[in-house]
Amino acid sequence: LQDDLRALQSNTPRKYPKVKYLNYKNRKRILITGGAGFVGSHLVDNLMLAGHEVIVVDNFFTGRKRNVAHWLGHENFELIHHDIVNPLFIEVDEIYHLASPASPPHYMLNPVKTIKTNTMGTINVLGLAKRVMARVLIASTSEVYGDPTVHPQPESYWGHVNPIGPRACYDEGKRVSETLSYAYAKQEKVQVRVARIFNTYGPRMHMNDGRVVSNFILQALRNETITVYGNGKQTRSFQYVDDLVDGLISLMMSNYTQPVNLGNPVEHTIEEFAFIIKELVGGHSKVERTDAMEDDPQRRKPDINRAKKYLNWEPKVPLKMGLLRTIDYFRKELERSDRYAANSKKY
Ligand code: NAD
Ligand code: UDP
Ligand code: UDP
Repeated sequence: LQDDLRALQSNTPRKYPKVKYLNYKNRKRILITGGAGFVGSHLVDNLMLAGHEVIVVDNFFTGRKRNVAHWLGHENFELIHHDIVNPLFIEVDEIYHLASPASPPHYMLNPVKTIKTNTMGTINVLGLAKRVMARVLIASTSEVYGDPTVHPQPESYWGHVNPIGPRACYDEGKRVSETLSYAYAKQEKVQVRVARIFNTYGPRMHMNDGRVVSNFILQALRNETITVYGNGKQTRSFQYVDDLVDGLISLMMSNYTQPVNLGNPVEHTIEEFAFIIKELVGGHSKVERTDAMEDDPQRRKPDINRAKKYLNWEPKVPLKMGLLRTIDYFRKELERSDRYAANSKKY
């Protein structure tokens, strides 16, 4: 803020990351709902650097202006504070629909709102896409497979979801989102793309979103006990955010219209994962088991043959490299919040 104020006072133009020049034929107006969130803000960076015009629509439930602050004021960038549960009338060429809380504590906080966002919000996005004839990519999730009975999960698997459990607002919400997408595709000829995203991590993850990556890294950095829910034998497969963003853009550009899994197939038990993080961070945290989460999926690993075949995509960033970058981010965030707390005490 101080830098911005100084720049304003001295009339010095703000410095932005250098964006590519695209002529009007190749340049698109791209809407990203949820673009101030973790994944959305990385997608913003990628599309802005490529020279497109990017419009972010976000209600800042879990997203932050800080995630896109480096683009504020840029002539190709626009940030709109809007809740996608309400209709939205703008003119765009492409839409990435990412607006939805994503971590279990966030989506369980207000299950009704989570369902509204993934049903009414998706209807508004599809209605907008229909009116302006924009291609739309829906951010779906591996949670559509629920607690899977097939391993690893191919897109042809229909899933195993408890429709009235604590995760249902999100899982069923995303399943309806997918159903809506194909109904609009069939009935209204809207061009839809559906990405089933598996666990993703990286810088700009919300520090307190309660997901396993942020929890374990923060606990390790603070030398607190690392909390493994249940027996720790449940598995997840973690992909770095840059890989996901490449996959989302490849899917949007492709002619493939069926759902596509985007995830890293390297699978770890949560207990192993706790020790990997403890080793990378250092420090002297203990790893302890606590109560299990209700309806916690026991195994999760994407079958990514479809993405390989139709998008020529597969993840590139190894787990340890991605985690080191994420740990670095969290370390700086902690220093920042400590500085903030110290400054607040002065006044
Ligand atoms: P995030 O919480 O960081 O981002 C979601 C963004 O959507 C936030 O900026 C939030 O403020 C915004 N939002 C929520 N409700 C809204 C509403 N009603 N109107 C407007 N904006 C709203 O989460 P993320 O990890 O970046 O997830 C992005 C998308 O990817 C979500 O749709 C999520 O379901 C999906 N996804 C993420 C993961 C993952 O591991 N990160 C896995 C599977 C699917
Ligand atoms: N909608 C929107 N922006 C648009 C066009 C439509 O938000 O540019 C909303 C509209 O308010 C409606 C929803 O999208 O609630 C679905 O639109 P559709 O055209 O499918 O339905 P209808 O308007 O016929 O009910
Ligand atoms: N988990 C854990 N400790 C934590 C947070 C999560 O053991 O502090 C476990 C959780 O029970 C689940 C896995 O880690 O088995 C992944 O949880 P997360 O909330 O990150 O995402 P999910 O894949 O369940 O949506």
